[in-house]
Amino acid sequence: MKIFIDNNLLIWFKRVYFLFLILKKGKIENIDNFIYRGDFVSWDHKTIRNTFLEYFENKNHKVLKSYSLIPDNDPSLLFVAAGMVPFKAEFSGKVKPMYTRVATCQKCFRMDDIDNVGYTLRHHTFFEMLGNFSFGDYFKKESIHYAWDLLTNVYKLDPRKLWVSVHIQDDEAEEIWKNIISKDKIVRLEDNFWGPAGLTGPCGPSTEIFFENFYCSNSNCKPGYECLECEKKERFIEIWNIVFTQYFKNEKGELLDLPQKNIDTGMGLERLTRILQNKSNQYYTDLFYPILSKIEQFIEKDIEKVYQNFNLQFELSNYLSKRDIYLNIVADHLRGAVFLISDGVIPSNEGRGYVLRKLIRRAILYSKFLGILKEFSHEIVDSVVEIFKDVYPEVQLRSDFSKKVLNSEEKAFLKNISKGISYFNSIKQELIQNNIKIIDGKKAFYLYDTLGFPLELTMELAKNNSLQVNIDEFHKEMETQRIKSRQNKNDIKVFSINKEFKTEFIGYNKINYEGKIIGILKINPDKTLELVNEISSENIQDDIILITDITPFYPEAGGQVGDKGIIYNDNFKFEVKDTQKHVEGFIFHIGKLNGYLKLGDQVYLEVDFYKRKLTAIHHTATHLLHSALRKILGSHAYQAGSLVDYDRLRFDFTHFQALTDIELKNIEDLVNEKILKELDVLIEYKPLNVALQEGAIALFTEKYPENVRTVKIVDKDFISYELCAGTHVKNTSFIGTFKILSEKSLQLGVRRIEAVCNLSLLPIFNKFSYILNDLTSLTNTDVDKIKNYISKLIEESKNLKQNLINIKKKYYQLCINQTNLFSKNVFNFNLLEEDDLLLVHDLIKTKNPLYFGIYYVENLNKYIFIFNQNNNDELMQLFNRYNLKLINLGSYKKVVINDSKIYDEIITQIKLKIAT
Ligand SMILES: [Zn+2]
Ligand SMILES: [Zn+2]
Repeated sequence: MKIFIDNNLLIWFKRVYFLFLILKKGKIENIDNFIYRGDFVSWDHKTIRNTFLEYFENKNHKVLKSYSLIPDNDPSLLFVAAGMVPFKAEFSGKVKPMYTRVATCQKCFRMDDIDNVGYTLRHHTFFEMLGNFSFGDYFKKESIHYAWDLLTNVYKLDPRKLWVSVHIQDDEAEEIWKNIISKDKIVRLEDNFWGPAGLTGPCGPSTEIFFENFYCSNSNCKPGYECLECEKKERFIEIWNIVFTQYFKNEKGELLDLPQKNIDTGMGLERLTRILQNKSNQYYTDLFYPILSKIEQFIEKDIEKVYQNFNLQFELSNYLSKRDIYLNIVADHLRGAVFLISDGVIPSNEGRGYVLRKLIRRAILYSKFLGILKEFSHEIVDSVVEIFKDVYPEVQLRSDFSKKVLNSEEKAFLKNISKGISYFNSIKQELIQNNIKIIDGKKAFYLYDTLGFPLELTMELAKNNSLQVNIDEFHKEMETQRIKSRQNKNDIKVFSINKEFKTEFIGYNKINYEGKIIGILKINPDKTLELVNEISSENIQDDIILITDITPFYPEAGGQVGDKGIIYNDNFKFEVKDTQKHVEGFIFHIGKLNGYLKLGDQVYLEVDFYKRKLTAIHHTATHLLHSALRKILGSHAYQAGSLVDYDRLRFDFTHFQALTDIELKNIEDLVNEKILKELDVLIEYKPLNVALQEGAIALFTEKYPENVRTVKIVDKDFISYELCAGTHVKNTSFIGTFKILSEKSLQLGVRRIEAVCNLSLLPIFNKFSYILNDLTSLTNTDVDKIKNYISKLIEESKNLKQNLINIKKKYYQLCINQTNLFSKNVFNFNLLEEDDLLLVHDLIKTKNPLYFGIYYVENLNKYIFIFNQNNNDELMQLFNRYNLKLINLGSYKKVVINDSKIYDEIITQIKLKIAT
């Protein structure tokens, strides 16, 4: 079966077919349908991207690189889902834009359309969006003209094939279009309104440009019209959406006028590529095709066997009709997963990590439908890299890591996949027998919680079998589980106030300075903030926040903790417990006030020198550690989290197995060597792209300004070069000593190292030496000999224990031989300790397997019965009558009686029983 028809063949076939139509109908009315797409120009995806960016560069736009898929500082969004997302602050007017005209090709990720992926041929989870933006610069007229000019004169799309829509109330946009395109190609639609991305944000009316894919004889057939003749064949492909961002939607849902009017446009690269490359769907473009053909290589010849192996039901007709859909889904999801991993997302059970996990598991499940037996997902990475390495270098940089993540996630899921499918089949069987169509939520939750099937997978399996899942019940189960494991998180870092402050940070060079109070904030119990003009410690118990016009205090950032210290004048003393940077950029000093202060007061600001210096030492050491890890473990060892404090550092990084003692020692030695070598720490400011080109390490999760601060430490075979705003020592020798304290796993693929430097080692050293001193004096030995001494003690105590057991065994054996109180199957004697129960039990068992034992534990004053359940129904009834709890003990039952009266009664009955 040949799936991919050669494109030129297709074009020629169409032409012949067209000639046939002319001959048949005898008229030429649709000639454009067959020769419109610039057949002879080759538009590869790189040319399409570059053409767009160059076009807008020539129109005075600043071309910026794509931002990470992980939005910076925006808790309302999981992923960047549109080209404008990284500029939300600029659009809302909160931040003064560095450029008023910008163009990007932005990586985007959406889960909203995941159910359509593969089925519609135009939806994707990961996709790229071409966009030009104006922040208070040009507006409707220019944006429409640019779009038209680029599409028709540069990409050379036939203008006769283009249609547009405008918002139903937007006369202005329609007037502009009327001068470009005939009136009957303009439609006014209610839903031409975009945004906001998330709950609040900029939004406004839009105009959309459509490409007409084929001719339709119905004169009503226009964008936004449900045409019966065309059915769902997508006559119009929406290619470009231009949003006239003129409103801001607030928390109440109100539309407020933005102070400046903006332009936000988005053109799906995949769709444009499909049109320019003349393909019938996006999976056949060069953005996907190599991935599809790679996946195909893994499909087994004997597909039925694969289905059997995973307990799936095979039907040839169903397989043939769905095969391409499965293939598209697997390709889309694995491509998306590689991009997420490259931007630092790691599979987990919450947030972004869970989305990635779902995506990978869906890909694996569909690969089974497709007929793939073996682990394969990691083998697809290289074909993704091959397509995108020149555009998104991070995909290549992290390709080894992507392979490991995909493979380990696939392995973990494969262990459960056939179990899960069998479990699902058994549910299905049960439902069919009872004529029920809905899977109960508890069972779906079991699949999720125990077998690792995300709800979406269970729903997918249900859909394939015309069943539904009780989702409400599933979520109830989930919530119950969550409540059980919830931890109290008390984060007060997200402050919001409606006033702008400007604090100049001078802390890189100075730690003492004079400033002026420009903001005083009370923290209310509900964590909201209140601005006040003056404050006295007499009426205030809690911490307050001070803002000054200038400060040497470093606010927490990039893992480095905020500075501590004091702010004071003659009237007050303020103990700074923490320094934080507000989202808008100004600096909060948080702490406790003693005295009286008011706005405008001149104050002294004094950072705690000791803590600041030790923090800088730990920060520089963190950079050395990061480079050492990459040198010794490989470049996949990437920062996943960092904490820099004055008394320790903590560094989380991506790596797949525990570090060996030798690796740890090598890392420690390498860092200490760089300390001993007295290397200068060079701090420079330079344009972001220059720093990145020079190989500076940036965190993909951070959004950097155009001009960045870099920290560089160089030796002949070693370089540490990072974008970093933290405080550092001037020379590595200041670090003094670096010591790793621990290394452990944080989650799949992420490890954590804790280390200390310099004087902060002293308290730890002291603690250990006190313990050692205690041990040596207690054992009366030298430090050198203490290990031997303790090993010997342990050995001796083991032997003593064994001897004791042997003696006990002999003792009990004697007892057993002498004790035969009621009959030969009933033993009764005193235990020295309750722990001896099993020991005696075993001894008796060898003598007579059908025994019944009664033990008395002297030191606890309790009675224990042991008996074989199978042979003692009457005894069971007896115990039941007294409401005595039966405890399982392997194949035996145990009953404990603390009440001697009950014991006497039971014994009397047993004696009676034996007598009869
Ligand atoms: Zn139609
Ligand atoms: Zn740093």
